[in-house]
Parts: sequence; C-alpha cells; structure tokens
Amino acid sequence: MRKKLVKCGGIVFGDGNIHVQSMLKAPPEDIQANVRQASRLAEAGCAAVRVAVPEKKDAALIFALKKSVKVPIIADIHNDYKTALEAVGAGADKIRINPGNIGGADRVKKIASACKAAGIPIRAGVNSGSLKSGGDAVQSALESIRLLERFDFDDIVVSVKSSSVQKTVADYRKLAELCPYPLHVGVTESGTARIGLIKSAIGIGSLLCDNIGDTIRVSLTAEPEREVEAAYDILKAAGIRRSGAFRAPSVEVVSCPACGRTRIDVAFLARQTEELTRGLGKDIKIAVMGCAVNGPGECGGADFGITGGDGEGLIYKNGKIVGKVTESELLPALMEEIKGWQN
Ligand code: SF4
Repeated sequence: MRKKLVKCGGIVFGDGNIHVQSMLKAPPEDIQANVRQASRLAEAGCAAVRVAVPEKKDAALIFALKKSVKVPIIADIHNDYKTALEAVGAGADKIRINPGNIGGADRVKKIASACKAAGIPIRAGVNSGSLKSGGDAVQSALESIRLLERFDFDDIVVSVKSSSVQKTVADYRKLAELCPYPLHVGVTESGTARIGLIKSAIGIGSLLCDNIGDTIRVSLTAEPEREVEAAYDILKAAGIRRSGAFRAPSVEVVSCPACGRTRIDVAFLARQTEELTRGLGKDIKIAVMGCAVNGPGECGGADFGITGGDGEGLIYKNGKIVGKVTESELLPALMEEIKGWQN
C-alpha cells in the first residue's frame, strides 16, 4: 500500500526513515525542567519530542519548548478539545489525540480544522488500556481515521499500542494492511529499563523487520534519554540504518558468547571495543570473536574484527587478515586500524 507522507516540523513521516520520538516527564508547571529535558533529548538524537498538555494553561509549555529546542514538539492531549486548540495556537507541530475520547465528532472536527489551518498533523492514538473491555484497537483506529477523513483531514499518523507485546504486533500487522497512513509504533507501558527494553525490542523489532513503522517510541519507566538510547539500540539490532536524525552511534559490535575453546578475554575486548567506538558516528560492523570456529566467518563479513587464538589473535580489516598480535596488543591494534580507516 502506498504510504502517505505526513510532515511534522522539519521531518516527514513515511519518508523511509524511522524517526525516534520520546516524551517529556517533568511536571508541566516546571517549564525550565521540561526545556532542559527536551534539549537533552534533542542532543541524544531524538527526532521529535512529545509533551503532555493536561490543561489549557499548560499550552504555555509548547510555546517555551518551541522557542528553546529545534526538534518538532508534539502536544499530547487526553480528552479536552479546548486544550488541543490552545496547543495548536501555541505552535505545536503535531497533536496527539484519541478521537474516541474527545467527546463527540463536532469537537474532533474543531481540532481537525485548527490543525488543517496550522498545517500540522494529528496522531490518532488508540491505546488498548483506554478501550472499553473487549474493544478492538484496530477497528477503533480505523473509525478515528474515517472520522478525520470525513472532515477532509488526512495528515494522519496512527498508533494502536498495547502493553501486550503479542497484541501490539498483531494489531500493527493488521493495521498496516488496511491503512495508508504512517504508523507510530511502540509497546506502551512496557516497564522499567531492562524489561521495557526487552518487550520493546521484541514488539518494535518484529514490526520493523516486517517493514512496519515510520516513527517509534520506546516507553520506559526511566529517564527519557534512556528511551532514545534504547530506540537506537533496537534500530541497530534490527539492522536498520535509515533513521532521521541518526546521531547516536551506529557502530555494530558482533561478539561471540565465549566457551571452553576461548583463550582470550572476549568479554573485556567486546566491552572495550563498544566503549572506544561509541560516538564514532559511522556505520561500521566490528566482530570480536573468541576462536577460529566462528571467528573467520564473522570477521570475514565485518568491516573490522578480531579472532582469538591461544594468547594471541588475528586482526581483520574489510574481511581480510591484516595482522597477528599478542592478546595485550589486540585492542590497540584493532583501534589503530579503525582510526586509520577514519582518516
Ligand atoms: S567463536 Fe569460538 S570461542 Fe567464541 S563461542 Fe564460538 S567456539 Fe566458542
């Protein structure tokens, strides 16, 4: 199905990039804390920042954020259409609503008209948690889309998040078949940093591997920067290089788990390799392998690599052996090759 392109500030959903989003977590009345958080997110490579606007008066936050950070600001509105109108007036780059919660079609129409006049999109966001028991998230999203289309509005992004990974994946797969609009993908309320990353990696990662998703948010009970880091790790693990504002490290380190054959400290070398190449800002793959069983294969397919032997190891560049050094020289020799390649 041909995807509609939806502009949001300087980014375009549906353009083939995966745009990483996160959400601010400071209280709305603390404008400076929100601005600081948004700046850190932008610095971390977040392509768009969403902020909850609980009441009309909180729309001032949108105005302050727009003045202070360069990334698009998305106003998250729960159920009050007047707050949505206020957020549009304050300069929001996109409005997120669940049209089913706004209190009637006439109110949705008012929001659609204001967004159309401002030239900004709407995300029709259906969360399983807010559906009546037994409600179908995909049907609800399709009804929201039809409602907006009825008002001649089609700058739409859609989401059908659930805290169940299986339901999230099944619903987005169904929706992707039926809907031409860009999809905002995520597993909602996924939990704390560790389990949340695992759930999100399975949910978002499965969908990305199916080529489903235009913008993603990893929702973690943690600092918002962790969400952005996690999003980039998921993109990296899914082998996706196309990402708007991809400023996070795109180095992929492949390392073996080590076993009884290992005679070098693979864990140390892999950790150090990750650490020393952080922020390189290059799309490279580095293999750190314990022995000749799988080492030559992985290093042969990587840009750089180490294959361990007994107290020594081989250095690879562009899939070919370029040196043999002692264990203590492996890391410096590998870094030397990477540094030489950078220049
Ligand atoms: S590459 Fe060698 S050391 Fe590493 S897990 Fe495989 S067999 Fe073990």
